[in-house]
Amino acid sequence: MSKYIMFGEELLQWLQNLAKESKVLAPVKEEYGYTFAEWDKKSLPGDDYRNTLKPPKDLFFPQHETLLKYEKIKGENPLVEVPDIPEDKRVIFGIRPCDASSLVLLDNIFMGEDYVDPYYEARRSNTLIVSLVCRTRGKSCFCEDLFSTKGSDILIIKVDGNYLVEILTYRGEAAFKGIGSKEADEKIVKKADKLKRTQEEVLDKDIFEKLRTIYDNPIWKQLQEKCVNCGVCTFLCPTCHCFDITDDKRGKKVRSWDSCMFASFTKQASGHNPRPTGTERLRQRIMHKFYYFPEKYHDIACVGCGRCVEKCPVNLDIRQVIEKIRGCLDEKSLSAI
Ligand code: SF4
Ligand code: SF4
Repeated sequence: MSKYIMFGEELLQWLQNLAKESKVLAPVKEEYGYTFAEWDKKSLPGDDYRNTLKPPKDLFFPQHETLLKYEKIKGENPLVEVPDIPEDKRVIFGIRPCDASSLVLLDNIFMGEDYVDPYYEARRSNTLIVSLVCRTRGKSCFCEDLFSTKGSDILIIKVDGNYLVEILTYRGEAAFKGIGSKEADEKIVKKADKLKRTQEEVLDKDIFEKLRTIYDNPIWKQLQEKCVNCGVCTFLCPTCHCFDITDDKRGKKVRSWDSCMFASFTKQASGHNPRPTGTERLRQRIMHKFYYFPEKYHDIACVGCGRCVEKCPVNLDIRQVIEKIRGCLDEKSLSAI
């Protein structure tokens, strides 16, 4: 698809036009970091953030969502009210490419072959994703491709104070129709390419193969020793998607984010817990991201956004966890010792 070059004023005008028909969400600075909020339509959103504190999954799969309301009436069938499917058109501007790619992973869960979540699906189909490439990679980030196009309708790269706009999908093309911007020449595309930062892959096929062989390995106990099972890593992870459904007293069924790092996550009504200690829970988190998910969906469930690295209260860095797993002996070798 096409590439255009835009001045800041043109980009602002384009966004303002989009805002006439759609709700435009952009990263806004708050006390504890950036968050996606409705854009003020006055000036271009700032660009000095890595990614938002809360991942974008919240905009499609909210932390708490009422699935239905009900009222019991004596002697009659209960009254059941199902919330409307969201229809508002939205634009997410300034999402980082790693976060945009996380949405493609979530699509496997909420818009898969077996089950489609109508609320998630409506939000996905009503939302235009406009990504803005980071200028540098943060200390805790480990995305493989700073310029990843996965999950974006439009990808924007800031070059020499102007914007290289790459249209990636038909939805992106429709949103850009009639703008009349100049097509980007080869010189500017080459300049943008120079901004690419490659780095050694943190996650590769070897880790998948290794995980296949170390389910009962003592490494899991060592790795989890300093973890306090707070669940921050899973709540802030753009790809984690575990949830619980509870009935509240006012007659609502509410879906809320949950975490495999919590002791209660797998606790059964009998009191039995198949993941009784932190060892099983940490193993589950790592196995799910790098073994079970790729086995089923052919992609790892980590986009290298670095949130879990930055916010873990005990500095349990997932990159170091992967390195330790890579270096540990598999079960066959261990039993030979
Ligand atoms: S954020 Fe750190 S301490 Fe908390 S559950 Fe995750 S790994 Fe454990
Ligand atoms: S596991 Fe950590 S680095 Fe990977 S996507 Fe989740 S929060 Fe980001």
